[in-house]
Amino acid sequence: MASDIRISGLVEESIVDGPGLRFVVFTQGCPHRCKGCHNPQTHDFDGGYMMNVDEILARFDEDPLLSGITFSGGEPFCQPGPLCELAEAVKARGKNIFIYSGYTFEQLKEMAARQPEVERLLCLCDTLVDGPFIEEQKDLDLLFRGSSNQRILDLADYK
Ligand code: SF4
Repeated sequence: MASDIRISGLVEESIVDGPGLRFVVFTQGCPHRCKGCHNPQTHDFDGGYMMNVDEILARFDEDPLLSGITFSGGEPFCQPGPLCELAEAVKARGKNIFIYSGYTFEQLKEMAARQPEVERLLCLCDTLVDGPFIEEQKDLDLLFRGSSNQRILDLADYK
């Protein structure tokens, strides 16, 4: 039986959350509390609703034009176990994984040393956009990011 993920919502076709046409899972629960966050409804760890990985996959499979899946938030790395299940199934379909995190890559590597599922999710991730949203560094012209401190990191080497 596949696991459940606590989510705030799905967007089944997006062109602004990573390259190509993407299926976006907005996870529910975020510890970062960035000033000026555009998704404050995703902060409450008891909010949103539960959805099974198999249900999400069935929706993903309805659209053969998708390039891959994006995990956004909320903070995806607060639910690494079920997201690994989903990411593994998406990778098995030959599609890619793009993840937004409010943690920096360096913080995630420290977490990965203590939490094997964080390590596994980093290994499954093709591209990571890292770091909190910093309102003072907000830039509407940035590709796939909200503020200039955030980096688009190719994690091919991490594997
Ligand atoms: S990490 Fe994202 S969802 Fe969380 S507070 Fe910051 S901008 Fe909002």
